[in-house]
Amino acid sequence: MTTSATKLLCLIGDPVDHSVSPEIFTRAFEACGLDAVYLAFRVPKEGIGTALSGLRALGFLGCNVTVPHKVEVMKCLDEVRGAAVGIGAVNLVKNEGGRLIGYNTDGEGVLWALSEVNLDGKRVAVIGYGGAARAVAFAIASRHMPREIIIAGRDAEKAERLVRDLSGSAKATVMRIDELSRLDLDLIVNATPVGMSPNVEEMPIAEDALRSGMVVFDLVYSPKNTALLRAARRKGCRTISGVEMLVRQAAAGFEIWTGMPAPVEEMRRAADAALELRGRRG
Ligand code: NAP
Repeated sequence: MTTSATKLLCLIGDPVDHSVSPEIFTRAFEACGLDAVYLAFRVPKEGIGTALSGLRALGFLGCNVTVPHKVEVMKCLDEVRGAAVGIGAVNLVKNEGGRLIGYNTDGEGVLWALSEVNLDGKRVAVIGYGGAARAVAFAIASRHMPREIIIAGRDAEKAERLVRDLSGSAKATVMRIDELSRLDLDLIVNATPVGMSPNVEEMPIAEDALRSGMVVFDLVYSPKNTALLRAARRKGCRTISGVEMLVRQAAAGFEIWTGMPAPVEEMRRAADAALELRGRRG
């Protein structure tokens, strides 16, 4: 039951209809007995400032922010904290007594998803240079000592920008995606939307770039079992699904908003059920 004391949270992005965050957070609030609701609002690119003013005026506890607002939203905040500063993107806002504070929890999701992988002295390739790729690269550089982080994409100039930003924290280089198959890589991360529903047969790299013993981490979580992960398993690679990161970045957000430990297993079950339902609907 909602009351006048119900805490309000939401997702702001465009599009948002694919998002399973409402299901994940609703289950988490129920599991912890919290009087809170989580909604999803489609806000076009030019509407982010108005949307944030609205949240402040209505006393929302906070929001998640997704594409295309993760960078632009920073102009509307009173402060940006933690990993969001280096990454240069915000995926979570908390309203602290009328001050809007920006955080980035994607990196925590990445580190948790990679928690059983030793990357010290290893060669890592990240495909993409958008917000998620930045979170992956900065998170790896902050926790591990990789031999090299290769940023691969279709626009060398954009990739070069991320390499420059990383230069103080890790050895980083730019490469074309088709050049990756020449290298002996230890970890490949797909940080592009390639393979995402409805284009489920697409892969961000050719199958011959995958070799036994590699770790392949696909940030795409819808579908859970992407064409890239299926190909990687056929080649004897170890695979990590984007769902791991999705659940852990949500859990980190729950903790920032509520100050309580997140019910991670409940959140994972909610994510799995919501993604399965989306998959059946097609
Ligand atoms: P973004 O900021 O829009 O960046 C997208 C990146 O993908 C850019 O580097 C873009 O390069 C590249 N790209 C797009 N289409 C491509 C194609 N056909 N071939 C090669 N590169 C292509 O988006 P984002 O926030 O980084 O998100 C990227 C993906 O990660 C999405 O699928 C998102 O759902 C997923 N994600 C997952 C989680 C999780 O928790 N699992 C969290 C965040 C994001 P150009 O500039 O050249 O187009």
